[in-house]
Amino acid sequence: MTKADFAALDAAGLNLHAVFALDQLPDALRDALHNECDPARRYSQLILIGNGGRALWQAIQREGVRSADPIDDFSVCKVGRWLAEQASGRLYEIVYPGERLIGLQTLGERAGWHFASPFMVGINECWGTWFAYRVAVLADTDFEPTRPVPGESPCTPCRSRPCVTACPGKAIENRGFSLANCVRYRLCNDSACRTTCVARLACPVRAEHRYDDDQIRHAYAISLHVIEQYQGGKT
Ligand code: SF4
Ligand code: SF4
Repeated sequence: MTKADFAALDAAGLNLHAVFALDQLPDALRDALHNECDPARRYSQLILIGNGGRALWQAIQREGVRSADPIDDFSVCKVGRWLAEQASGRLYEIVYPGERLIGLQTLGERAGWHFASPFMVGINECWGTWFAYRVAVLADTDFEPTRPVPGESPCTPCRSRPCVTACPGKAIENRGFSLANCVRYRLCNDSACRTTCVARLACPVRAEHRYDDDQIRHAYAISLHVIEQYQGGKT
């Protein structure tokens, strides 16, 4: 086995990495992944790449990427180049970004990146909520699997829960998160959450890693567009 060198990805702001042996993943997760790939191919590992903090967006601005989805396009391009250098000749298949769900948060839990916050965005001690999954790749590589990042949920000792009181959509209730309330509020013309999440901004954990305003607007504009399309499709 070889130790993967993630330096080129770090330099692009893709600074979270996890390597899983496929045969160590739970059956349901592995089956979902296999359903996503060419059945004629056999992969041994899943490589999960994410970003924490502002470095990815800054790298995208530096390189002047202009496209409808610069984060996905940049991330896929960088990971493709990295694989060409680190795993030349090995088969691989990018399963995220893509159309179907592949259990990213479950993978994030196994990597030690994800604890559920009251508003359902992942949180951890290192990045607060300011991290995201960018690329997941099935590959026939033999990299050393990574260990889970150690840490606890920052929400456990958080007694005042400012995210809950900040949410203007009453989406965070005693019974748990109400996606319906969140969506209803976000779609209001005068919503404060059309291109942001006020609860997320109110969380004090690792606020120094908060995304640039442009990145927040970009990410939430995409999710609002998806909601509007879905709502439009129901009428
Ligand atoms: S404000 Fe407290 S409860 Fe809310 S996400 Fe942050 S740490 Fe968790
Ligand atoms: S987007 Fe707005 S309504 Fe939804 S959870 Fe965040 S703060 Fe609440």
